[in-house]
Amino acid sequence: MSSILHFAIDTPLRRVFDYLPPSGASELHPGQRAWVPFGKRRVVGVLLSVDNHSDVPASKMRRVADLIDTSPVFDTELLKLLVWAAEYYHHPIGEVIASALPIALRDGAPQFATEIHWRLSEQGRHEPIQVSSRATKLQALLSIIGDEQPHRDDRLIDHRVALRNLLKRGLVERVETRTVIESVAPRIDTPLPVLSSDQQCALQAIVDSLGTFRTLLLYGVTGSGKTEVYLRAIDQVLQRDEQALILVPEIALTPQLVERFHIRFKLPMAVLHSGLSNTERLNAWRAARTGNARIVIGTRSAVFTALAKPGLIIVDEEHDSSYKQQEGFRYSARDLAIVRAQRHGIPVVLGSATPSLETLQRARRNPADLLRLPQRAGIAVPPILKLVDLRHHAANQGLSTPVMQAIRVHLDAGNQVLLYLNRRGYAPVLFCPQCGWSAPCMSCDARMTVHMRQGKLQCHHCGNEQALFTHCPSCNAEVKPVGQGTERIEETLQALFPDGSIARIDRDSISHKGELHAALDRINSGEANILVGTQMLAKGHHFPNVTLAVILNADQGLFSADFRGSEKLAQSIVQVAGRAGRGDRAGEVLIQTEYPDHPLLQRLLAGGYDAFADAALSERETALWPPFTRLVLIRAETDTTQRAIEILQAARRILHKTSQTASRKLQLFGPAPAPMTRRAGVHRAQLLLRATHAAALQRVLSQAVTQIELLPDAKRVRWSIDVDPIELF
Ligand code: ADP
Ligand code: ZN
Ligand code: ZN
Repeated sequence: MSSILHFAIDTPLRRVFDYLPPSGASELHPGQRAWVPFGKRRVVGVLLSVDNHSDVPASKMRRVADLIDTSPVFDTELLKLLVWAAEYYHHPIGEVIASALPIALRDGAPQFATEIHWRLSEQGRHEPIQVSSRATKLQALLSIIGDEQPHRDDRLIDHRVALRNLLKRGLVERVETRTVIESVAPRIDTPLPVLSSDQQCALQAIVDSLGTFRTLLLYGVTGSGKTEVYLRAIDQVLQRDEQALILVPEIALTPQLVERFHIRFKLPMAVLHSGLSNTERLNAWRAARTGNARIVIGTRSAVFTALAKPGLIIVDEEHDSSYKQQEGFRYSARDLAIVRAQRHGIPVVLGSATPSLETLQRARRNPADLLRLPQRAGIAVPPILKLVDLRHHAANQGLSTPVMQAIRVHLDAGNQVLLYLNRRGYAPVLFCPQCGWSAPCMSCDARMTVHMRQGKLQCHHCGNEQALFTHCPSCNAEVKPVGQGTERIEETLQALFPDGSIARIDRDSISHKGELHAALDRINSGEANILVGTQMLAKGHHFPNVTLAVILNADQGLFSADFRGSEKLAQSIVQVAGRAGRGDRAGEVLIQTEYPDHPLLQRLLAGGYDAFADAALSERETALWPPFTRLVLIRAETDTTQRAIEILQAARRILHKTSQTASRKLQLFGPAPAPMTRRAGVHRAQLLLRATHAAALQRVLSQAVTQIELLPDAKRVRWSIDVDPIELF
């Protein structure tokens, strides 16, 4: 039997599709794209492998229509990584491959930017070209092209008809060449700070690892000079004529970081983020693939950027939850960055002031891979943390007296203050004090959030909106917004500090890039001196004049049902605290809570993130949670909770049976309705799998998934597999 080509095609089916080679076959390499017949359509497929076996009968086998690429779109290691990821996350290979490609390439756009030239053909050069003197157009073309040199297509726009004439007679030919941008040597002309000895050690460890696989944790408090270490390490990578891939949580939020890279290295960079147009994304991808872009910076999906000469991968703020895709192909870009580095045989640096417990535990097993920057760079000193006991201090609309006093003091000293509340909108509840009614979302088991300025109620889970009203639909008494969101805090601050100028940063006040830039400009110029915001404000920014940071409500996270709740809370507190006192002025951090004795807060205050992490890791070890075990969550969504539960029960039976034969180390919890059972009108349930050994878990899952797919309900119920979930609820 002749060779069989196995293709990945962008469909939700967990399988590959087999084809015969195109007629007049040229060389075939895994990673090449081709147009293939698929039902009645023609679609783009990516060649995964070639052998001579297929389950499809030879008579039914169809032929590849057209090869798109002459060389693979992915480097070999990247293609292997994608195949591995599809298996590890139990996600259809076609969708995995598609998510790694810019849309333009998924649609068949050429992999390389090309230039088209025209020149005389062999025949044209050797035969005298017969042209009548009346054919002026042909004469004109010949006067240009007759010099036997190639001429750019766009310069011959006026000669189309004549060109076609000569082409038909075989006298000219079309030549395609790849556009090549000169690669530029890095040039650093700004004076650089002298590295501290800790920075020097960290840099040395990274540089010593270049050319080999190693996972390094750069654990440095906010403002300790991690970025400076990245920049120096990247410089070394560039000297080796290799590329550096830098992953960041959100580029739109950190324009300062990209700018620092631009200022330091005046050379071509590819910046990949969700705000790009399809063409911009394609161009950035091409620049990375050809090696023209020496530095590639991007968010989550940039981990799949094909590179010509990878030398180093950096994952900044590695603890950030945005690295985990929460729908469809639920991969972790941080984890895949590690696997990718391993395949390329290059180091990966995970940087954070608040590393995830997974990463900390990994570094503890290999102490040489833990690079610490315990001190702030330059003259900045660490901030002082204090708790404000809300049981003893009355709060006025969410602001306690000590907080109000502190704001006054810091503003009077000419400094800026920052207030963090992880809840946007005006108030989380619209409540009737008369009968106890509160405004529910019709599609979710949740309440609607009040957005006063826009005069609406909005559900933050499904996006449902309705106009705000004043009287209770149940008893007609007057309703009241209860609790605080950032919008209300802004209003309160305005009333309390009429001389202050407020910048609010959350998803309602900042809906596009321009608004964020404007707000950051107001903050950096000092025009705004009170900063209020959600996570958006707490991430990565450098505000040298902020001397007071306030965490308005620490209690939301203290009693989370999710085992990761406390980790997230500790990270937010430390990250927000890190915004205070980054310049030459000492910072103060106030945390409002009704539970000042809570061990998490006490540990953070006494021993910082380290003390928190020590305790949290031993708790996880005792309770058998990751990183000491592996989890997989199977979710089902459908029209009734009962149906969602039923398919998961069937899945559980299959898993139970497979785990009996494979290994006994698998634990199953559930199925149970999801804590928010109804969301956006669908009912949700989940089944949790836990195992001490990743390999055992993977084996059982692989076998079970094939059987679950065959369940009659599997096609009617939306179900999904989340390997290493970061949110259980
Ligand atoms: P991080 O990434 O850990 O938050 P940065 O690299 O952004 O820290 O450094 C914080 C600030 O300190 C920046 O303004 C940076 O230019 C400065 N900085 C970094 N390293 C040094 C150093 N060795 N000496 C003086 N200033 C430094
Ligand atoms: Zn009422
Ligand atoms: Zn809703």
